[in-house]
Amino acid sequence: MLYFGTINRRKCGGSERVLQPMWDHLVFHYYPLVSSPFFPVLLKNMPAFHNYKIQGERHPTMPMMLKSLGMAIYNHVVFVTPGVLLLHILVPAPNLPALAPTVWEVFSGSVGLLLIFDTQYFFWHMIHHKNVHLYKWVHAIHHEYVSPFSWSTQHLSIFELVTLGFWSHLDPILFKSHPLTTWILTIFSIWMSVENHIGYNLPWTLNYLVPFGLLGGAPAHDIHHQKPSRNFAPFFTHWDRILGTHCFFRFYIYIGSTEVEICFGFRPLTNHMYRFPEFC
Ligand SMILES: [Zn+2]
Ligand SMILES: [Zn+2]
Repeated sequence: MLYFGTINRRKCGGSERVLQPMWDHLVFHYYPLVSSPFFPVLLKNMPAFHNYKIQGERHPTMPMMLKSLGMAIYNHVVFVTPGVLLLHILVPAPNLPALAPTVWEVFSGSVGLLLIFDTQYFFWHMIHHKNVHLYKWVHAIHHEYVSPFSWSTQHLSIFELVTLGFWSHLDPILFKSHPLTTWILTIFSIWMSVENHIGYNLPWTLNYLVPFGLLGGAPAHDIHHQKPSRNFAPFFTHWDRILGTHCFFRFYIYIGSTEVEICFGFRPLTNHMYRFPEFC
C-alpha cells in the first residue's frame, strides 16, 4: 500500500528515465521478492529465470542458505578477522606508490595474477580430489551440495579458505602488483567465484562475454559439483582441456525434427537444449 501511494505521486506522463519501465515491472510484479533482504538469493522465485537453472529439479532451501551463510560468518569471525588483526600488528604497513597504474597495467597484471591463481588452485583442487584423506578433511565440505547456489561459494573448510587467502595475498606481493590492481582483482575474482556458483546458465555471464570458451563460468563449475572428477579449474578452461578433465555442455537446436549441435559462442536460450557429452 505504501508503495502504490508513492507511485501515484509521480508526475503524469511518467518518467523519462530509460530504466523506468524495467523498474516499474520489477516493483509491480515482484515487490515482496525485491524488497526482501534475501534478494537476489531468492532468484528462484522469479519465473523468468527458471529456464536458465542448470539443475532445474534442485533448488536451495532456506536451511541450506542459512547453513552456508553461518559457515561464512563463523570462518570470518573466528579465523579471518583475528588473522587480519594479527597481520596488522606484526607486518608493517606498506608504502603506497604515488603513481597510479595505467589501465594496461591493471588489465595485464590482473590477467597474469588470475592465470597464476588458476594454476595453483587447479593442481591443489585435483590433488584434493585424488587423495581420499585430503578430500575428506579439507575439500569434501564444499561438495555438500550437488547443486551450487551463490551462498555456497563460501561453503568451505577453514583449511581451504586459508589456502585461497594465502595465494591471493602472496601472489601480488611476489609479482610486485600495484595495490590498486590487487584491489580491483580481488573484487573481480570474488565476482567470478560467486558467478561460478549461481547455478544458472545466464547468457550474459562472463564465460559467454569472453570468447572461445576460455572461461568455464557457472556451467563448468556446476558440472564439477555433479561430476567431481571433471572441471577442476576455478576460472579458465585450459588446464582441464590440456589434462583431459574438461566436461562442458553441448548445445543443440532443433531444425524441424533434426538435432543440430551448436559450437562456440552460442548463448543458450533455455536449459532444455543442452546436456553432458557421453565421455563425462
Ligand atoms: Zn564449488
Ligand atoms: Zn571440488
